Amino acid sequence: MPTTGCLYVVATPIGNLADFSGRGREILAAADCIAAEDTRHSGKLLAHFGIKRPLLSYHDHSDGRVREKLLRLLRDGATVALISDAGTPLISDPGYALVKAAREEGIEVLPVPGPSALIAALSVAGLPTDHFRFVGFLPAAQAARRRRLEQLKSESATWVLYESSHRIVACLDDLALVLGSGRSIFVAREMTKQFESHFLGSLEQAAAWLRGDANQRKGEFVLVLAGHAAKGEEDQRLPEALRIVTLLKNELPLGKAAAIAAEITGLRKNVIYKAALGNPEN
Ligand code: SAM
Repeated sequence: MPTTGCLYVVATPIGNLADFSGRGREILAAADCIAAEDTRHSGKLLAHFGIKRPLLSYHDHSDGRVREKLLRLLRDGATVALISDAGTPLISDPGYALVKAAREEGIEVLPVPGPSALIAALSVAGLPTDHFRFVGFLPAAQAARRRRLEQLKSESATWVLYESSHRIVACLDDLALVLGSGRSIFVAREMTKQFESHFLGSLEQAAAWLRGDANQRKGEFVLVLAGHAAKGEEDQRLPEALRIVTLLKNELPLGKAAAIAAEITGLRKNVIYKAALGNPEN
């Protein structure tokens, strides 16, 4: 492991400070310089762990001069650690321009992996993780947000969004409008923090959950969306859905039976409902 002339990209906790890795703390404590998104914010984290190293504020877009200074330090053999306010740098956080420039110069860049809200949410969502697409933050303006969602509507992989408390309700409304209220969503709120909560259900149910309790609208959110079911996949799951409807149809109205079958199979309720109407067994 090189101890000089290296840029370490260090993940920091997304809430619970006990999630900071021992190696992450060691690298920061030994770094010649720590490049941080917000030095005041990171100063508190470093103070908590008794780490006293020179701190530089760094952002990709505004800080060409700081980037040049960091590259000069690295060329001279220094160890620089890059951190962001929380989680893994470069994941909807600064660092890409610095890492790219360091790589182009042949400077060693090493990861110190750890928390990321993206992976934390995916790991507990209960939605497929074999393929996923990270979308980051949607545009803040409603028209642009809806246009972006139109582009994402047919994505077949699970996809992941970051959202703030200011826009969470508007975002869920737009998701339901563009994708249909039956699409499955997992909401991960305040992960690893005191008031952590999670919700898995349809977009309609998730919106009702948030609207029903102001406390659930506070904090930080990751939204994990089920991918659009491809026609072939729908065809494969339809027989199973129809079998469920057949089992339930004597006890429940067809709409309710289709809703339960949709919940179990992940297919859209109206697809099942229409197919069940045309099914001679129903
Ligand atoms: N680089 C970070 C990472 O690796 O997760 C993400 C930085 S991004 C600027 C901040 C967003 O991440 C928040 O608005 C929220 O969507 C999500 N986030 C961060 N911490 C979270 C947490 N504890 N619970 C839920 N979402 C979180």
